Amino acid sequence: MLPTVPGLERLGVKRVPVPVPFIEAGGPANVYVIEEDGGGLALFDAGIGTADGEAALLAGFRELGRDLKEVRRIFVSHGHIDHYGYARATQELSGAPVFAHPRDHDKITWRNLRDEPVERYVQYLVRLGAPAELQSRIREMVARTDRYARPVENVEPLTPGTTLKFARFQAEVVHMPGHTPGLVCLWDQEHKVLFSDDHLLEAVSPNPLIDLEGGLEAGLDGDPGSERPRHRALVEYLRSCAKVRELPIELVAPGHGAPFSGHVPLIDRLTSFYTRRQEKVLGLLAEGALTAAKLAPLVFPRARPHQLFLILSEVLGNLEVLEDQGRIVRRVREGVWVFEKV
Ligand SMILES: [Zn+2]
Ligand SMILES: [Zn+2]
Repeated sequence: MLPTVPGLERLGVKRVPVPVPFIEAGGPANVYVIEEDGGGLALFDAGIGTADGEAALLAGFRELGRDLKEVRRIFVSHGHIDHYGYARATQELSGAPVFAHPRDHDKITWRNLRDEPVERYVQYLVRLGAPAELQSRIREMVARTDRYARPVENVEPLTPGTTLKFARFQAEVVHMPGHTPGLVCLWDQEHKVLFSDDHLLEAVSPNPLIDLEGGLEAGLDGDPGSERPRHRALVEYLRSCAKVRELPIELVAPGHGAPFSGHVPLIDRLTSFYTRRQEKVLGLLAEGALTAAKLAPLVFPRARPHQLFLILSEVLGNLEVLEDQGRIVRRVREGVWVFEKV
C-alpha cells in the first residue's frame, strides 16, 4: 500500500518509496508522481535501477492505476543513483525528457565515470593521504555503478528560479548545492511545501561527499601545489541550510522517508552537530598538523574499513569549513596536504 499524505494529495502528488540497498541513504528513496496539467504525469526523482527498485516503482504505478508511459517530464533532484537510476528506463518507455541542474549533468550522463575524471579523482584522494586500498575501492565503486543505474544520454538543463507548473500546484526550482554541486529542491510557496530530496532528511544527516565538479582552483596562499576543489561540500551545504531555514515551510517532502515538518529545529540541530564536530577536529589538530586521511579514523574510531570514503569526505568537509573560517590552514608536505591550526 502506498503511503497517503494529505498535504501532498491535495497537490495531486503521490509518494512511491523504492528500496535502496545502502543503509547510509536513510531508507527507501521517494519517487514523487505528480499530475501534469492537461493529463499525464511528471516525476520528481526516478528511483534506482535495481530489480527491487523497478519492481517497487511498477507496483506503485499499478496501485495508482497509472502507467509509466504516461510520464511527460522527469525531474532529477541530484545526480545520485538512487534518484536518477531508473530515469533512462522511464524515458525509453515514455519518451519523456530528463531535466537536472547542469552541475550534476556529468553524473547522470556518466561523463564523470570516464577514465580521466576517475583518475583525477583518485589522485585527489592520494593528496588527502588516502591509502591505496581506498583508491582501488573507488575504482570498484565506479565499475559497479551499472548495477544500480543506467546513464541518461541527454539531460536538459533545470534552471534555478524556473517555475514548474503542474495540474494543482506550481513550484520554483531552488538550487541548494552541498550534498551534490547541482542539487535542487522544489518550493511550492503557495502551499508552503518543500520537496527537499537529500538536502533535508529527518533521520540522517546528508553526507557531504568529496566532489571535483567544477575542477580545482588556486589555494589561499596562491601556491600552485595547493589547488583545491571548487565545490566544498559542507561549506556549501551549511550555506544552503541557512537559506532553507528562512523559508516558511509547513511540510517537507524529503528524498528518503516520510514527509515531516519542523525544518528550523532540524537545521539548528544539524548546524550545532557540525559545529561540535569541527571543535573535535580542531582539538585533534592541537597536537600538530595531520592529513585528512590520518584525522578520519581519529574522529570516527569505530568506523569499519568500507566506510573510509564516507568518513574521509565528512572530515574533509569539516576541515574546509574550519579553513573557510580562517581557523586552520592547509600546507603541501611531500605532495600530500596537511591541515594545521593557526
Ligand atoms: Zn543523494
Ligand atoms: Zn538519496
